[in-house]
Amino acid sequence: MRTAEGLSSEQAAQLLKQAGPNQLPAEKPVPQWRKLWGEMTHFFALMLWCAAGLAFIADMPQLAVAIIVVVIVNGVFAHIQQERAQHAAARLRGLLPADVVVRRDGKVRKVHASELVVGDVVLLAAGDRVPADTVLLSAAAFAVDESMLTGESAPVPKIAGDPAWGGTFLVNGYGEASVSATGTGTKLAGIAALTSGAVPPPTPLSQELRRIVRVTAGMALGIAAVFFLASLLVGFQWRDSFLFSIGVAVALVPEGLLPTVTLSLAMGAQRMAGRSGLVRNLEAVETLGSTTFICTDKTGTLTQNRMNAVEVFTVAGPVQVTGQGYAPDGGVQGSGVEGAAKVALAARTASQGRAEFHDGQWRAQGDPMEAAMDVLARRLTGTEAGAAPWRRLPFDPVRRRESALLGADLFCKGAPETVLPVCEAVPGPVKEQVEVMAARGLRVIAVARRQLAGAPEAWQSTPALELETGMELLGLIGLQDPPRPDVADVIRTARQAGLRIAMITGDHPATAAAIARQIGLTGSPELVLEGADLPEDDQILGALLDRDGVVVSRVSPEQKLRVAKALQARGHVVAMTGDGVNDGPALREADIGVAMGLSGTDVAREAADLVLLDDHFGTIVAAIEQGRATYANIHRFLTYHLTDNVAELTPFVIWALSGGRFPLALGVLQILALDIGTDLLPALALGAEPPGRRILARPPERRHLMDRQLIIRVFCILGPVEAAMEMAVFSAVLAGGGWSRGQVPEAGLLMAASGAAFTAVVLGQLANAFACRSATVPPWKLGWGTNRLLVWAVLAELAILAVCLYIPYLATLLGQAPPPPAGFLLALLAAPAVLLADWIHKSARRRLRRSRT
Ligand code: ADP
Ligand code: MG
Repeated sequence: MRTAEGLSSEQAAQLLKQAGPNQLPAEKPVPQWRKLWGEMTHFFALMLWCAAGLAFIADMPQLAVAIIVVVIVNGVFAHIQQERAQHAAARLRGLLPADVVVRRDGKVRKVHASELVVGDVVLLAAGDRVPADTVLLSAAAFAVDESMLTGESAPVPKIAGDPAWGGTFLVNGYGEASVSATGTGTKLAGIAALTSGAVPPPTPLSQELRRIVRVTAGMALGIAAVFFLASLLVGFQWRDSFLFSIGVAVALVPEGLLPTVTLSLAMGAQRMAGRSGLVRNLEAVETLGSTTFICTDKTGTLTQNRMNAVEVFTVAGPVQVTGQGYAPDGGVQGSGVEGAAKVALAARTASQGRAEFHDGQWRAQGDPMEAAMDVLARRLTGTEAGAAPWRRLPFDPVRRRESALLGADLFCKGAPETVLPVCEAVPGPVKEQVEVMAARGLRVIAVARRQLAGAPEAWQSTPALELETGMELLGLIGLQDPPRPDVADVIRTARQAGLRIAMITGDHPATAAAIARQIGLTGSPELVLEGADLPEDDQILGALLDRDGVVVSRVSPEQKLRVAKALQARGHVVAMTGDGVNDGPALREADIGVAMGLSGTDVAREAADLVLLDDHFGTIVAAIEQGRATYANIHRFLTYHLTDNVAELTPFVIWALSGGRFPLALGVLQILALDIGTDLLPALALGAEPPGRRILARPPERRHLMDRQLIIRVFCILGPVEAAMEMAVFSAVLAGGGWSRGQVPEAGLLMAASGAAFTAVVLGQLANAFACRSATVPPWKLGWGTNRLLVWAVLAELAILAVCLYIPYLATLLGQAPPPPAGFLLALLAAPAVLLADWIHKSARRRLRRSRT
């Protein structure tokens, strides 16, 4: 195999300074004003623009100007929120791992992909993303997925001398390549520049949100139109009818909703990242919240992925090997140590991973299992790795074994089921021993050898399946991979949260079952399946797997895909982990594809929605917790916002129903002040509510945002109470001022009454904000300190209220005046009234739930 020496660190540093980092040019940013313009010309904004235009035509310039101010303030606000969300998303992308293996200073080292320079020699293995444009120096069974360049997804085979383009994925084989162009010089950069204008397709959440928003807006317009016609028929002035209709439409349109949701998702994503879970698109935050089924692999997620070869079995008997971690010293015990040493050397030759001493510690370099083979060989023979093989037949999940050719010998190691059948004579005790070792939770690897006849050159390009036959079995190696210490606790938590967990692993059924038992994953009755035995029929498969604690062993990537589909067909929201080259389809099919940040392949990470920066199973559960919390927050501020709408709409309805005889309690401008003034900050603060303590103590729910609970709370409980207080306060002040039914109230009195009604709504909303913090307990049972933002938001809300009432110019513009003291006191009662209604509702629900169970 021809390899180049690579650059020295100094050369590389120099070149890096000249050429700049190996990064794609940052996407040409859409100019700020364009984005801002977009915020002011979307569907709602256009509706409001129309309203403003009509107001002008109807000779109501003040109203028109006010509406325009609303559109602008709203647009600016939405823009700021979107920017913050995008910044958060960009920061998260920067956390994605991007290490490359290169030869520098004659040594194999890991560097960040952005540090690559022309002339670097990179080592590529299946699953890697080619980090820059390169020319292959050597290639074995090398095939790349170039679909990101050509759109053609069939793997393209490559040989030494061929180019391998940056951004493509190595899906098979391995090789070394010399970097020919980096960063902006790459072919991908050219294409990216061409396509950067492409808009990504809408995601399910944004579709759902848009639907909600469209429906509400449609409703608003519909109601407005109906009332417009009705009021004309009743004999209203054209102008009054029109004013009324605009009020209704503006009151009902949820202007600030979309950006608030986006920001809330971004904050959720950021919190997940703080707990090592990286989502690759914001909507995944919401999907995580509704996850019901986790399919996890074993190695590295549930276990530590710190392999230690503790036993070697040969026909002479078992040999026990002791030692700490990847340190080469250790003890040996048993008969047939010589045979065991041969097994270890063969296994090491067939491995690429090594144990290395750096930073004061022995560590695994490369695959931990292969590093363990190196350690085993050192412990048994005291030797360091010898000559490098001249050809490798790398591991793939279908063959489940790996071989290397050294001189005229082929050394092979892999899963016993796939190695034993290609060996010539397998003594009976060996097969038994596989089961015995696996039942102890050991990963069992069979090691075999074949002496090739004739010159090695004759075997240069023979396919793996032809080479790996007629072998001589040397022995078995048992590797220990202890479970992560806290994984049993995490599984218990996940159970409480109503999540079902299945272990989907490539390992031996007995090994998998033993680990599953150790960590308390096994369900009762125990169900351990093998990939090959899965039922053909998808419906039967779904029914079989739809329970907790199933272990599926020896699965192929295709079977993983089937598992994901079968569970989804049963209504589950499935999170599926994967690390291999071929896991892409299963990861994409699952609702949440989960990839490993430390050990997985780039291919898997590219297909995933969630990347575990620490490879830990617990991170999936933590992400689900945060997802639920974020969903709950969106639900919270939706409840809050819609309650306000009820209070805003009621005065118009009463006005219209009374045929204009009962005066209008709130004007259009007051409604706008509520929507974009007092209401905005508390809604944002509700979106930042930290996860409740019991959020993982409840079963998952897959709900629409506008579910029954929300509708009941808003339209039957909180909304009516708030509206009733508003109208009561309004009538009381009017009555106190000497107004009686049927009269037209004197202007000053009407403004004071309207100010009282406005105050009542603001105070009701203040209480509502606290009431919305929890769906189950009254607000006084929650700590104040847990959402400081809300306290500030509420103070701001009160300040805005004061400004709207006591700055004469503004108050007059809004059509209100400070209420008389009695009216003010009455308005204060709106807050306790809302809290009381909330408390009664929550207690009743609790009692109902208790009587049900
Ligand atoms: P897991 O789900 O535990 O990560 P994998 O799909 O990675 O399982 O591996 C499946 C089986 O393939 C292992 O149990 C082992 O027998 C075999 N195997 C895995 N990696 C290698 C390797 N590098 N060399 C040889 N055999 C391997
Ligand atoms: Mg694995």
